[in-house]
Amino acid sequence: MADLRGGIDLGGTKIQTVVVEANGTLRGEARQPTPTAGGPADVARAMEDALREAAAAAAARPDELRGVGVGSPGDANGDTGVVSGARNLPGWDGSFALGDELSRALGTPVRIGNDVQVAVEGEYALGAGKGSNSLLGVWWGTGVGGGIVLDGKPWLGRGAAGEIGHMVVKRNGARCPCGRRGCMEAYAGRAAMEARARDEHEKGTKTDLFKIMEKRGKDRLTSSVWEHALREGDALTESLLRRAVRYLGTGIASACNLLDVETVVIGGGLGVRFGDRFMDHLATEMHKHLFVADPPMMKVAELGDLGGAIGASLLVRD
Ligand SMILES: [Zn+2]
Repeated sequence: MADLRGGIDLGGTKIQTVVVEANGTLRGEARQPTPTAGGPADVARAMEDALREAAAAAAARPDELRGVGVGSPGDANGDTGVVSGARNLPGWDGSFALGDELSRALGTPVRIGNDVQVAVEGEYALGAGKGSNSLLGVWWGTGVGGGIVLDGKPWLGRGAAGEIGHMVVKRNGARCPCGRRGCMEAYAGRAAMEARARDEHEKGTKTDLFKIMEKRGKDRLTSSVWEHALREGDALTESLLRRAVRYLGTGIASACNLLDVETVVIGGGLGVRFGDRFMDHLATEMHKHLFVADPPMMKVAELGDLGGAIGASLLVRD
């Protein structure tokens, strides 16, 4: 029996699972939609099903795996396996012992980590950050998350480090989904960009964003809607994306002045879609604020859709 591990990326819309070898080679994968009703126990059951499916694809049983790692939203405690306040999951305002529950169901040890941090560690070990000694990951999606690797080790602070999205880029600036003002996420997060686009649209600014959204049967401005509108030359789309990148550049430069990392990796739904296209603009905006003489290497995440789950599998100890 090969040395196999499982990885689960628990997202707000889907649960992605993988079974990989110790070096990250993919042996099986499966995905399921995240339940939209019920509570944490229902989500855990869907995770179990998806992991069983990935294991079957790798011709293994879950209890034959060395362990399973989980990248979770909310406050994910790596020591206790408890996940609290995962508000984009149904009925998960409180705490739930996800690690214990899954471990019992799957018959193998389960370790829990923060979703963005494990994705960043995946890129560090196997993707765009390979070969670097220090790395800042910026996950540009619905919100803006981050992860840090310093001297080859994840930097978690006391458990909550890496929240670059809530770095203040403008005092008394725009209202952030977190309730504070002037955070990077208030300008660059997809949710904040959507709110701004709606405002502008209602005030009479011409845009095809919402027409495209309806035509594609969506009820919100997904990354693919933004991409489609940009391709069609929609002026508001272009200006909101450039504005987002401007503030990303401001925040990332400040983080680099503090940490002087070797590499910055841009990931997340918007990051992967727009990273290459806006990388020059991002570098220009960063350089206005960079104090360190030697700018970091700038890269787009390479592990794709499975990156979060593969990164989670690295939580499994040898
Ligand atoms: Zn905030």
